[in-house]
Amino acid sequence: MTRSNPDDKNGKMPSYFNLPPLDVSLAFPQATPASTFPPCASDYFQYDDLLKPEEKAIRLKVRACMEKEIAPIMTKYWEKAEFPFHAIPKLAELGISGGTIKGYGCPGLSITGSAIATAEVARVDASCSTFILVHSSLAMLTIALCGSEAQKQKYLPSLAQLKTIACWALTEPDYGSDASALKTIATKVEGGWILEGQKRWIGNSTFADLLVIFARNTSTNQINGYIVKKDAPGLTVTKIENKIGLRIVQNGDIVMKKVFVPDEDRIEGVNSFQDTNKVLAVSRVMVAWQPIGISMGIYDMCHRYLKERKQFGAPLASFQINQQKLVQMLSNVQAMILVGWRLCKLYESGKMTPGHASLGKSWITLRARETAALGRELLGGNGILSDFLVAKAFCDLEPIYTYEGTYEINTLVTGREVTGFASFKPATQRSKM
Ligand SMILES: Cc1cc2nc3c(=O)[nH]c(=O)nc-3n(C[C@H](O)[C@H](O)[C@H](O)COP(=O)(O)OP(=O)(O)OC[C@H]3O[C@@H](n4cnc5c(N)ncnc54)[C@H](O)[C@@H]3O)c2cc1C
Repeated sequence: MTRSNPDDKNGKMPSYFNLPPLDVSLAFPQATPASTFPPCASDYFQYDDLLKPEEKAIRLKVRACMEKEIAPIMTKYWEKAEFPFHAIPKLAELGISGGTIKGYGCPGLSITGSAIATAEVARVDASCSTFILVHSSLAMLTIALCGSEAQKQKYLPSLAQLKTIACWALTEPDYGSDASALKTIATKVEGGWILEGQKRWIGNSTFADLLVIFARNTSTNQINGYIVKKDAPGLTVTKIENKIGLRIVQNGDIVMKKVFVPDEDRIEGVNSFQDTNKVLAVSRVMVAWQPIGISMGIYDMCHRYLKERKQFGAPLASFQINQQKLVQMLSNVQAMILVGWRLCKLYESGKMTPGHASLGKSWITLRARETAALGRELLGGNGILSDFLVAKAFCDLEPIYTYEGTYEINTLVTGREVTGFASFKPATQRSKM
């Protein structure tokens, strides 16, 4: 039996990728031409109509590149748990790095445009979207919102072009959900700061040129932010192996032993944990659009597969139970898009609260998990093969359920907002908000 990947030109492609794409162009005028990735059938309620022309344009540009250039290579890299560095110039050409940041060579997209672009990347490959989100919506945005003018001019242009890559390090081995209690310390010395401590799970950190690191100022006991260069003496990064999802993303354990950071690289606008929330407010909206994109991809894949594969002499799509599952997936996607779209509008009008963002991220991720489980069932045995992409997307959703606030923590953020009671600590330690 020959086993091969879609980008293996000499090998045999999995049979369903060899079939011509279905002609869905009448029902779905926005469908793109043939590629290994199926046409987009998941925008059933035609949410495209809600987008401004420039937002539609970025969607189509990202979709075309992701389907044609990126889709054929990602399964191989996912299986190897390696990052496809040669794809970075293609991702740079998309012009989405820097997202909503204006000036400094950044695209200055609307939050909706940036969210739609995130979904389009995630629809084809979730790891790719996480790579861009960590770099852009976390690291670049921290510099843009909290950095000095000199830092913005120095770092943002090359980050926008993906000529340099950044990561964002908040989580520590002993402080995940409880990151505000982090223990990495920053001590003032002449001309700069000495950082000591550890970080865990940090995406892109194994190869990032710039590491945005959060540490506790030993004088004020508050959280400060720093830009650390990859070659800083005392800094070591070790790749975390054996992940079951987002395998292309290179997550690292960081150890800092007396790492010197010059004064010019302290991020002056990060003076407490609350300052990270300015960044997380935007990035959580973006993260909420990742499971939307992933679910769209899963639906598109299943929609095509069910029409192409036959059992009992008829297409799988003709069986009632399969239709019921497919329509449940489609309903989820339509509702997820509506919630994600409303989050963007709340943000644009200045009305979005932390509770809104947390509810959006947690609820959308929950529905995405359900959608992925149904999709995985619909593909039968092929539903557990990464070649058919649904299994890969199924696994990729797991870390997204957990990062940027777990489902439970985001639920508690919204719960605190609607009840006035904070429930993060054990009952004996709780106080009213
Ligand atoms: C693939 C991946 C990429 C990541 N990338 C980054 C990155 O780039 N930068 C970064 O800084 N971090 C990153 N993270 C870290 C991520 O944000 C944390 O994993 C997350 O915040 C959860 O922390 P934890 O894993 O330590 O889980 P824990 O905090 O140990 O939680 C374990 C379980 O307990 C639950 N729990 C915890 N506290 C409470 C409570 N008070 N009430 C109810 N339930 C609770 C949680 O919901 C969870 O189910 C990444 C994580 C992953 C898996």
